[in-house]
Amino acid sequence: MSGRLVSSGIRLPKYVAGDGRLDLMKISLSSHAQRQTLQRIYRQRSQHRQFHVSPSQAAKSRFDSPKSEKDESRFAAAKSKKNAPQSTPEPNAAQDQGEPRVTRKEVKRERTKILLEQREQKIRELEAQEKERLEQEKQEEERAEQERQELKRLVKEQLGLETENPAKEEKSRSEQSSNVVRKIFFSGVASAGALVLWEMWRFAYSTEPLNDQKFSPFEIVDRQQVSPTAFIVTVKPVVSRLGGLASQWKLAWLETLQHKLAWEGTWAVEIKQPELQVARDYTPLPELDVLRATNEYDTRGRIELFQLLKGLFSPQQSIPTFKFLIRRTEGGEVSSWLSRRKVGDTIELRGPHQSFNVVARAGYKEAEEPKRVVFLAGGTGIAPALQAAGSLFREHGQTLKKMPQVDILWANRSKEDIKTDNPVIELLEKLKEMSRGKINYVCVVDEEGRFITANDIVAKTQITPPRKSWFWNSSKAESTRSKDDVNCYYHSSKHLITSAGEDYEKVDGENPRRQCACPVGRPSFKNLLMVSGPEGFNNHFAGPKYWADGKERQGPVGGVIGELAKKYPSLASDWLVLKL
Ligand SMILES: Cc1cc2nc3c(=O)[nH]c(=O)nc-3n(C[C@H](O)[C@H](O)[C@H](O)COP(=O)(O)OP(=O)(O)OC[C@H]3O[C@@H](n4cnc5c(N)ncnc54)[C@H](O)[C@@H]3O)c2cc1C
Repeated sequence: MSGRLVSSGIRLPKYVAGDGRLDLMKISLSSHAQRQTLQRIYRQRSQHRQFHVSPSQAAKSRFDSPKSEKDESRFAAAKSKKNAPQSTPEPNAAQDQGEPRVTRKEVKRERTKILLEQREQKIRELEAQEKERLEQEKQEEERAEQERQELKRLVKEQLGLETENPAKEEKSRSEQSSNVVRKIFFSGVASAGALVLWEMWRFAYSTEPLNDQKFSPFEIVDRQQVSPTAFIVTVKPVVSRLGGLASQWKLAWLETLQHKLAWEGTWAVEIKQPELQVARDYTPLPELDVLRATNEYDTRGRIELFQLLKGLFSPQQSIPTFKFLIRRTEGGEVSSWLSRRKVGDTIELRGPHQSFNVVARAGYKEAEEPKRVVFLAGGTGIAPALQAAGSLFREHGQTLKKMPQVDILWANRSKEDIKTDNPVIELLEKLKEMSRGKINYVCVVDEEGRFITANDIVAKTQITPPRKSWFWNSSKAESTRSKDDVNCYYHSSKHLITSAGEDYEKVDGENPRRQCACPVGRPSFKNLLMVSGPEGFNNHFAGPKYWADGKERQGPVGGVIGELAKKYPSLASDWLVLKL
């Protein structure tokens, strides 16, 4: 500790005045050492009776010490006033005797006042600092923005874009905004259009003019008696009351369906007798226009799209019609009722019900060699024969190279059934001409004593008896071959026995094609021997069908053909016998 020597020889600290009084302003008892010092001073004062400060007063002065130099004088004055009456009057302190006494409260108030002023000062300083900081930040941002703008300008210059023409910039800005408005407008129009089309599509499909769930009305537009017992009725869908685009759409849809069905094989629809609430199957005759379409359009997808677009936009919409060849059976519930219907009457149809996919079984365009198809038709059974021939023509009509040879043997009771003006005969003739003889037909009439015989079948199928050789029993070889049947739904005779004639499996209302399970890339297309007519006719030639699990199934081949298969093993191995 630094100090001064007084006359008494005692070294005094710096806060002891020359006259021996304590200079309270210089006392700071912040440490233990200082407290020790104060105690020592007190002891010295009691020894020399020269000092007037008690240890408690000294300790108090620690708290009373002013915080800044500015307040020091004021504080010292107040302190001296306060201490004046307590201290012993000194010869040189006579001048203070007349001053008023300062209370402890006043000191405290003064001190609080000073502290408040200090705090306010501090707040003002902080506010000033904050303001300065914000000002700096703002300046920084402005500088950065300027730099950005400058950079943009430089980039535009580098890319060769105009920057100096504000009018141009303004123009391009307005063009951009008008483009945005245009885009919004057109996308709105497109969405509305799509919505309308979607609704139309839903409407068209929700109420198809022909579907296999419920009966739809059709109007008889033509009726032609072709023999004493057989007649042809032509019907068209009743959709006109829907009017406008919706009915156009429906007609186009029906026309597309007609094309699709004609391409795929045999199919029928049910016709309802409303008084008795019973229905029977009838087979639509193929439409020549539909069959001819094959020469113009080669793919299924294109023709469907074409039909739909044509139907939608052609002002004179052709209305698709269906023709049925019906024989009135005496006492028959539906056929008799139908025979009494006139032009303008309405009948109800449900379907289509597809059966055999003739093209898949006999061969698509990719078949290695053309196959043969022989059809034994009795009476109205000619309708599925025409469908089968038509679908093969649709598949191969363009080149006819891979087109199977189709031979139809048509048996009728009376000569009147095969008159030349009979539309069915006209249709057969037309197909023969269009296919350049690939589709052929022969008519036999009971009245003339001519029937379909086993020899006719052998001649048309061109099957040959097994060759007999002294070193090789070929009949044995052929019968072995017939057992090596492929395990394929379309091309296996074994599968056919249990088949219910559903080549188009129903899945979710759709009729997807079944898959050929022959070795990949080598479908074993088969020759087809098809039998279609009244039950007795079918049983006579191919044997009866049988019922299982609620469905009528093909059953084993019997009758005339079954007998032939025993003599001609190739009939069993190379031919599929389909009963319609
Ligand atoms: C897939 C398929 C397609 C067909 N396509 C055609 C076609 O294009 N054209 C066509 O004309 N036919 C077709 N038919 C046949 C047709 O479905 C009917 O079977 C035929 O028209 C006779 O029906 P119906 O109601 O007139 O006679 P039904 O009432 O069924 O009577 C049939 C026979 O049984 C007799 N009969 C009826 N009730 C009795 C009784 N109580 N006692 C004794 N005998 C009785 C009748 O006299 C009649 O000979 C097709 C059949 C199928 C399965």
